[in-house]
Amino acid sequence: MKQSELFTKTTKDTPKDETSFNAQVLIRGGFVDKVAAGIYSFLPLGHRVHEKIKNIIREEMDRIGGQEIFMPALTPKDVWEATGRWENFDVLFKLAGADKKEYALGATHEEIVTPLVKKHVFSYKDLPTFVYQIQTKFRNELRAKAGLMRGREFSMKDLYSFHASVEDLGEYYKLAQKAYFKIFERCGLLDLTYLTFASGGAFSKYSHEFQTISENGEDLIHICKDCNIAVNKEIIEEQKVCPNCKNKKLKEEKAIEVGNIFKLGNRFSKDVGFEYTDENGENKDVVMGCYGIGPSRVMGTIVEVHHDDRGIIWPDEIAPYKVHMISIKKNEEAEKIYNNLRENNIEVLFDDREEAGAGEKFADADLIGCPIRVVVSEKTLKNNSVEIKRRDSEDAELVGIDEVVGKISNF
Ligand code: ATP
Ligand code: MG
Repeated sequence: MKQSELFTKTTKDTPKDETSFNAQVLIRGGFVDKVAAGIYSFLPLGHRVHEKIKNIIREEMDRIGGQEIFMPALTPKDVWEATGRWENFDVLFKLAGADKKEYALGATHEEIVTPLVKKHVFSYKDLPTFVYQIQTKFRNELRAKAGLMRGREFSMKDLYSFHASVEDLGEYYKLAQKAYFKIFERCGLLDLTYLTFASGGAFSKYSHEFQTISENGEDLIHICKDCNIAVNKEIIEEQKVCPNCKNKKLKEEKAIEVGNIFKLGNRFSKDVGFEYTDENGENKDVVMGCYGIGPSRVMGTIVEVHHDDRGIIWPDEIAPYKVHMISIKKNEEAEKIYNNLRENNIEVLFDDREEAGAGEKFADADLIGCPIRVVVSEKTLKNNSVEIKRRDSEDAELVGIDEVVGKISNF
């Protein structure tokens, strides 16, 4: 992509009412645009990052047997009444249809997915089964001041698992935890993310959150450094020690909840009469689990934890482009190198702008935060080379033009 053709521009200004760090930087870099509190448009650079995060999640969900579906965001009142949540789900967006019926914008999808799977699953032979979607969710959040971390409209991957037994659910639940850590590893969040014991429900004592340590996090967690697990402050009264080693010395940190998994048991299957026939021909309740993760919140979290005072430092796998190439003055050689990188399937943003000065281009590259910066100038071309620098390092090196593709591929 040529930066001269990118319709968004970077800016030094952020909306005065935008107090969150992640949104300020993302707006300045031209990744997102703020429409209202908790409502954002994703622009070309931001859309690429968001899609990459979604695709990582998709791959890891497919790997543990998830079958992708896509459910509606507009949902009728009666399905929420069937589970008692029309009145009890405090952040549900409610609206009236032209047919005078009431609707809710999907805040979560147990009410839709449970009757759906019931239509296709009858016997123990059909179980277990796992379905997921990546979709826009709506929640009428009271405070939406944390940028992408707390949207009124936001993206969520929600997977639902259906089992014949509690034991089978338990096994899948562990598998899902592993898949989540794989996702956070690929998103560059592994070192800061802890499996965190949180309040459960009628069915299980605990649910599990994935909490990423960050100064701007809204949650407080207590970490056991020996076991690499944590306890959410909300349950610290009933869980004062490490659930694993009983260690009493837990360290308090602020954190962002990037994911949440929950054993539902028959909480929803019972309401909609979702039963299966077991080996002996007896009818039993289907046992369920649900597994959420917010790609847009993950994106905001990555910005919160991977930046310096010049801008974002994207982890390799989710950067908008792998390479940000800068030509100091318009020259044909830079154009050739750009084409060569693209022919070798290297994602590159090429700052070919004629009106922008070198300083402005360097500042933009730091703000946008692609992992590798390539500079082509008269000086480097004299040595038949380009200058290559990683965003997360101060060391630049000259690399011969013929070696650029090889060098970047191995970075
Ligand atoms: P929170 O406690 O932060 O309000 P939650 O526990 O209500 O979140 P879940 O219903 O478990 O969240 O949703 C699953 C995932 O969806 C969360 O772990 C988070 O990554 C994401 N998510 C939830 N609410 C929002 C939101 N308002 N904006 C962005 N992402 C969200
Ligand atoms: Mg939660």
